[in-house]
Amino acid sequence: MCGRSGMPEKEDEAFRRPWKAGMGVNMEFQKNDIVTVTIEDIGSEGEGIGKVDGFTLFVKDAVAGDQVEARIVKSKKNYAYARLEKVVMPSPFRIEPRCAYHRQCGGCQLQALSYDRQLIFKQEKIRNSLIRIGGFAPEYVDKRMEPIIGMEEPFRYRNKAQYPIGRDRDGNVVAGFYAGRTHDIIANTRCWLGAEENEAVLNCVLEYMRKNHVSVYDEATGAGLVRHVLIRKGFASGEIMVCLVINFKRDKSFGGEEDGGAGRQERGKGGWSRRSGRQNDRQDFLPNQEELISGLVQIKGMTSVSVSINTQRTNVIMGDEVHTIWGRDAISDTIHMRDMKQAEHPYTGEELVFRISPLSFYQVNPIQTEKLYSLALEYAGLTGRETVWDLYCGIGTISLFLAGRAKRVCGVEVVSQAVEDARGNAERNGIRNAEFFVGKAEEVLTRHCGAGQDRVDVIVVDPPRKGCDEACLAAMLRAQPERIVYVSCDPATLARDLKVLCDGGYEVERVRGVDQFGMTVHVETICCLSRIK
Ligand code: SAH
Repeated sequence: MCGRSGMPEKEDEAFRRPWKAGMGVNMEFQKNDIVTVTIEDIGSEGEGIGKVDGFTLFVKDAVAGDQVEARIVKSKKNYAYARLEKVVMPSPFRIEPRCAYHRQCGGCQLQALSYDRQLIFKQEKIRNSLIRIGGFAPEYVDKRMEPIIGMEEPFRYRNKAQYPIGRDRDGNVVAGFYAGRTHDIIANTRCWLGAEENEAVLNCVLEYMRKNHVSVYDEATGAGLVRHVLIRKGFASGEIMVCLVINFKRDKSFGGEEDGGAGRQERGKGGWSRRSGRQNDRQDFLPNQEELISGLVQIKGMTSVSVSINTQRTNVIMGDEVHTIWGRDAISDTIHMRDMKQAEHPYTGEELVFRISPLSFYQVNPIQTEKLYSLALEYAGLTGRETVWDLYCGIGTISLFLAGRAKRVCGVEVVSQAVEDARGNAERNGIRNAEFFVGKAEEVLTRHCGAGQDRVDVIVVDPPRKGCDEACLAAMLRAQPERIVYVSCDPATLARDLKVLCDGGYEVERVRGVDQFGMTVHVETICCLSRIK
């Protein structure tokens, strides 16, 4: 263990006490102190954890096994936050990050850690949550936990990217990411998590904007036109969708002081749809719009170009109004079922097609999603006779996966647009035994299932990060299904909810991590519970 540089290695209480903070030797670290520390562990947000003189240090960007020099950012009584200054001795698990911006961007907390080690970290994250938060005994967990399913290629896996458009420090129009917690944008069009085509799309948009003096939205003043670029790609179909989020005011010109006269152009007439892509409203929303389109259509796979109107001064990226300006209103993608009992997880030959519009929710890692859903199907243990409820069903992806093996599937989702998408997806795939309900999971389940009501054999839940509502867990227990399959994107809330379900008469049978988000600290978990007879 190393000490703070320039300080005695060991200080006894008598030696320390007369010294006050700021005088060099004291019990608390001062901001900007440089400390040498060996990193022993990784925290849940990916930060390195080490100890100096009983102090716990949380060092952002340090990897377990590193010996580093770190600069104190914030000091508390028993712990301090620090930033990596220099790697003195690299950890054997440290690797060269692919992205030059990984520290500034903050999106990939684990890029400097080898992928094998990332998977161990995630496996441990799930295990620790079950033990510490769920209160399960380590042996109980170890008996039920299966090895995490990693990605074959942990880069370029995201099918969706949202880039803010802004200006760099020199005033150039750029696409990239926000620097730290600021609103300055650091230019970077090459995010390694996204599709390769994203770079060409962004370069095309930026070139068009520069040439046509199209204004950039300014959060501080609420002026300017272009806010974000959303890009989605169907990995199976190869189809690409581009949607520019614009601050388009109907009564004004195209926006901004540097309108360059483009604002005087005649705007086409047409109705304003509240709904995405329901009408053929190919009007001009951007100056010299055709030039942008003719650039984008050169990119292989380009299928849909649209604008989303967002005039609100919020952090919410998309507006609710979407207009297709070229091509189709949506792209499609296929999710294949896989045989999870075999090592390579081969396709079974069954597949589903989904329609993805700019506003639809869709899992961001389609390859791992296939494995996750196939595992959900395996855990559900269906024979064809069951009634299954899929709570928090989104656009019905899991529900439709289960429908082929169940008697009846009922999906519940609070966003009505997603339910409409789910019904459309059922029809598209010729599925007739799936119904979808708009509403809160707890309310719909209570209304339909319970004593003297519909029998429920299996319940699948896939809640947002905050987990299931208490009322939802209570409704699940009242419905008394044989099995519960819990899909979770946050091991902490999963563990909390499993405890409630196990106290209510269920037992954990299997738990497995599926890495949907390589390079980040996030992990998806799937768990199967059965009713104790
Ligand atoms: N299972 C889907 C979506 C999971 S995301 C998939 O794999 O694609 C979680 C979903 O839960 C979101 O679509 C969100 O809108 C929905 N949701 C959030 N709170 C809810 C509630 N109380 N009742 C029902 N759905 C809810």
